[in-house]
Amino acid sequence: MKRYSAFAIAREAFRFHSGWERAWRSPAPKKKYKVIVIGAGGHGLATAYYLGKNHGITDVAVIEKGWLGGGNTGRNTTIIRSNYLQDPSAAIYEKARSLYETMSQDLNYNVMFSPRGVLMLAQTHHEVRGYQRTAYANALQGVKTEFIDAQTVKEICPIMNIDGPRYPVLGGLFQARGGTARHDAVAWGYARACSDMGMDIIQQCEVTGVTREGGEVKGVTTTKGDIACEKLSIVVAGNSSHVAEMAGFRLPIESVALQALVSEPIKPCMDIVVMANTVHGYLSQSDKGEMVIGGGTDGYNNYTQRGSFQHVEETVRALIETFPMLSRLKMLRQWGGIVDVTGDRSPILSKTPLGNCFINAGWGTGGFKAIPGSGWAMAELVATGHSPLTAEFGLDRFKEGRFIDESVAAGVAH
Ligand SMILES: Cc1cc2nc3c(=O)[nH]c(=O)nc-3n(C[C@H](O)[C@H](O)[C@H](O)COP(=O)(O)OP(=O)(O)OC[C@H]3O[C@@H](n4cnc5c(N)ncnc54)[C@H](O)[C@@H]3O)c2cc1C
Repeated sequence: MKRYSAFAIAREAFRFHSGWERAWRSPAPKKKYKVIVIGAGGHGLATAYYLGKNHGITDVAVIEKGWLGGGNTGRNTTIIRSNYLQDPSAAIYEKARSLYETMSQDLNYNVMFSPRGVLMLAQTHHEVRGYQRTAYANALQGVKTEFIDAQTVKEICPIMNIDGPRYPVLGGLFQARGGTARHDAVAWGYARACSDMGMDIIQQCEVTGVTREGGEVKGVTTTKGDIACEKLSIVVAGNSSHVAEMAGFRLPIESVALQALVSEPIKPCMDIVVMANTVHGYLSQSDKGEMVIGGGTDGYNNYTQRGSFQHVEETVRALIETFPMLSRLKMLRQWGGIVDVTGDRSPILSKTPLGNCFINAGWGTGGFKAIPGSGWAMAELVATGHSPLTAEFGLDRFKEGRFIDESVAAGVAH
């Protein structure tokens, strides 16, 4: 792989950009791989990348039924933060956040990580207490956050009306090194690096069955033929229940649509990410100037990857008291993705009833931020059978009642 650099841009400028290589190969599948990863979203690609980088396993295929990054990875609002309450969550999200800091250099691909600060507004006394508690927990976990008062909120986000009347801003939980990254670039950067290590990313190839024998996976059936493997990692987000069913086990997961929308582009007016969980809405401003807006999940299970007018109205209405300027903006487009939600609103990073099969699922509405940490940890689990970062996120916790309850935060856990 030729490295991207200022020198490479200058060189290509002199030869009419004829020397750029394809960022990743599009190979036909081989008959067998050491590891097959189903799903070329951020989590699947990151798992493959760290299998190669950290464990030297490069005989890997990542199989994708659509195009890489076309699932939730390319549909999310890209909020990155690690200010979770429970210790296992803080550990994996902070690992991920710290890997985002150096991801562009590591992958030699600009993922446009922008640690502009994430602010979660406290608009009820209950939220003030909750976020103060989270700030104390984060201090013990080594995650840098602080609870700030209403006046400081106004100073760092002047477009906000903090006076109410229904939901005045009483303060907020601020993580200065939280922020956003370019979602497609994260998928593309990992894909390029995986391809460079000799891994096969096979797009337009749906897994339709999992072949099993004696409690082990032997391979997968796909629309491009049967492929054998020694280990299988299922990383398919909103399709997790379907693929787990193919492998013969059930997951405690519900699949629901989560929608988002963007406004017309406007001049820079807000340089942080703001989440207003009580009224159920959040927003940031993209590099293009659009206000990127999201709210809660649809109230019923479905597999429909599209938006609805009712959602635009509901989410914008919720935010207008605090962001009056939104009332004068035209909304440009909206979309939806299918998220996989668990009962305790924490992910599943786990071994399965099949000896050589692993599952990474249940990130729900908030897994973009976790991509590098999750990939790092899943690669360790697949390669060695154990990872300290995944230890608490096993499937067995649902049998044993060992929940990692992030459900309060995860009402809007983007
Ligand atoms: C509107 C919206 C806003 C969000 N906002 C945020 C946010 O601000 N911050 C945040 O942290 N998270 C956010 N999320 C959540 C985040 O997008 C997801 O948790 C994350 O992208 C999941 O990544 P993934 O790689 O697991 O899944 P995906 O990117 O969905 O990848 C899974 C892949 O598996 C493929 N697949 C499925 N079935 C098969 C099959 N049978 N064979 C082959 N391939 C298959 C799919 O085509 C897909 O490409 C948001 C989600 C949505 C929808």
